[in-house]
Amino acid sequence: MKKDLPKSVQFVKGVGPRLAKVLEKINIYTVEDLLYYFPREYQDRRKLAQIRYLNLGELVTIAGEVLKVSEEKPRPGLSIMKVTFTDGTDVINGVWFNQPFLKKTFKKGQRYFLSGELNEKSWRFGKKELYNPVYELVDEGENIHTGRIVPIYSLTSGITQKRLRQIIYNALEEYSVHLTDLLPENLKKKYGLPDLADSIWTLHFPGDRKEYIKARVRLAFEELFLLQLLVLQRKKGVQEKGGIVHRDSGKIIEDFLGSLSFSLTGAQKRVWAEIKRDMERPVPMQRLLQGDVGSGKTIIATLALLKTMANGYQGIFMAPTEILAEQHYLKLSELLRETGFTIKLLLGSTSPVDRKKILADIADNRANLIIGTHTLFQEGITYYKPGLIVIDEQHRFGVEQRFRLVEKGENPDLLVMTATPIPRTLALTVYGDLDLSIIDELPPGRSPVITSWRNEESRMEIYRFVREKIAEGQQAYIVCPLIEPSDELKAISAQELFEELTENIFRDLRIGLLHGRVSTAEKNQVMEDFRRGELDILVSTTVIEVGVDVPNASIMIIENAERFGLAQLHQLRGRVGRGSQQSYCFLIGNPGTEEGRKRLSVMTETNDGFIIAEKDLEIRGPGEFFGTKQSGMPDLKVANILKDHKLIKLAREEAENIIKIDNWQSIYNELYKKINALDLKV
Ligand code: ADP
Ligand code: MG
Repeated sequence: MKKDLPKSVQFVKGVGPRLAKVLEKINIYTVEDLLYYFPREYQDRRKLAQIRYLNLGELVTIAGEVLKVSEEKPRPGLSIMKVTFTDGTDVINGVWFNQPFLKKTFKKGQRYFLSGELNEKSWRFGKKELYNPVYELVDEGENIHTGRIVPIYSLTSGITQKRLRQIIYNALEEYSVHLTDLLPENLKKKYGLPDLADSIWTLHFPGDRKEYIKARVRLAFEELFLLQLLVLQRKKGVQEKGGIVHRDSGKIIEDFLGSLSFSLTGAQKRVWAEIKRDMERPVPMQRLLQGDVGSGKTIIATLALLKTMANGYQGIFMAPTEILAEQHYLKLSELLRETGFTIKLLLGSTSPVDRKKILADIADNRANLIIGTHTLFQEGITYYKPGLIVIDEQHRFGVEQRFRLVEKGENPDLLVMTATPIPRTLALTVYGDLDLSIIDELPPGRSPVITSWRNEESRMEIYRFVREKIAEGQQAYIVCPLIEPSDELKAISAQELFEELTENIFRDLRIGLLHGRVSTAEKNQVMEDFRRGELDILVSTTVIEVGVDVPNASIMIIENAERFGLAQLHQLRGRVGRGSQQSYCFLIGNPGTEEGRKRLSVMTETNDGFIIAEKDLEIRGPGEFFGTKQSGMPDLKVANILKDHKLIKLAREEAENIIKIDNWQSIYNELYKKINALDLKV
């Protein structure tokens, strides 16, 4: 009969309170946690070697009978256990240091498996010896440490490989049959997937490679399937609540488009049509707008915000940094001036007095468009009638936050914008509840930024070049990795470079300084001056990384470029190449690692954000790429979000099939309960 799994891992044979404490360090609290603590790798100890033919330095497993057990005590405090084994071809000693209790373990005539490395030292004395080999009695039952494919787990201090393997084995023996298999029978049949208990057994103790692969596929599929169910259920939940039906606001939009100095690119027109259609439907929009830096996402956001305002709703526009929020505020204020709508800026640094006024305006519908940072969604802000939320540069926001936002209003429409191209299957998983629009075309007349990777020796030459361009009326950014000089980090700081340039090399030019410790008022002033062309050079840290838009700036110099990640370098470079003139990016750097060199050469080879993102993903892996915590990347135990493309698609399809069923929650009650209990921040 099935019984419930006991909660605490302490119920497992061989685990006491002390060991339970140790296991907590590797996040094992319950029996289930232990069962799902899968091996990091495996060692094939199936093949038994013959003692006579052993080679030096080889990792071997032998099976031998105990001939003799002896203990030597060459000096106080040192005990050497020597146990002699034979397999009929020759003899070998197992040698253990300071484990006198082993005297009682090995009995003459017993057969043992030994796994270890044939030691060089022992060879010198003409004897074959294994130092501290893993040992296990050959018995009727199953062997778990030797003589088979053996799981190797990640450990923590206080527990050995053997001990952990043993308690996992114990847990499997006692409890695996009591796990509830949630996969619907028809799916298991359709894809030939093994049972849950079998699969978990196999993943820990595979018989062979084929069996292992089947089990892995089953468990990975289950994980992805649950994830898709969760994401799709959430999406369905939002849709069932019903959303705002925006009416067509043709004239206002047309007038606005007519007032622009350019016309939309084909890609912009297409995504705008998708967004407009979504906004006019009774189902809340949940859309991800993806487009490389400079592809013109802001204008699309502006159109959508204008549409919601024209319908009498409030627009909310959230940016990841204050500088960017400020810039959006200036830009949209200018773009929308003729429309007569009231736009407010709300930042963390807004003074309490102003803040109070702005909050009152928001609550009383005197503000039509509110632009700000994440402060827009703090407690205590009441929107009068939110119709659309736009989130810029998604990769900086948690997905959790996204849900909190939506809960704020009466199901307002949601538009999330990102410059990070996300491979399609990955998008299905991480942003599985969002529909995708892609701007895959840059505005006309842009020529790719010319990028070169230089070292210190080219500095003066670069400066001469900068001077020439400034003489022609252009502007330059210089980005440094540090704010102030540091003793530990050998890198150029913005402060130092600013002083050096203003006092010496560019004494006659107008230079601004921008970094995280500059006061907000001053920051705004500096940005404003640079935007208006009253500064020639802006020395800065990565505070300008995202979104800053000054088309007249055509040179980007990145100091200690090896210190930046690929995505960051691409974002920084994206600050130039926004106007009609040819732009340049100089990466000054001397990477100490192969990886660093790879990053810089990728930058010189391509301007294509998609290729760069793929390379980045390749170099760093998905966890780092998204910043697991921030993005709410699910912590998958078996599935590999990058490699399991096929499984992701299958899981998506099958989850869609289930969600389509009207009362699937009661038909698949166990599944439903499970996804509601999932602690995945997706
Ligand atoms: P991003 O996608 O990085 O947010 P922006 O929206 O900041 O890009 O646009 C980059 C620059 O291109 C801005 O100066 C914007 O005014 C300009 N732009 C946007 N769309 C077009 C277009 N269709 N034709 C010409 N310029 C455009
Ligand atoms: Mg932008």
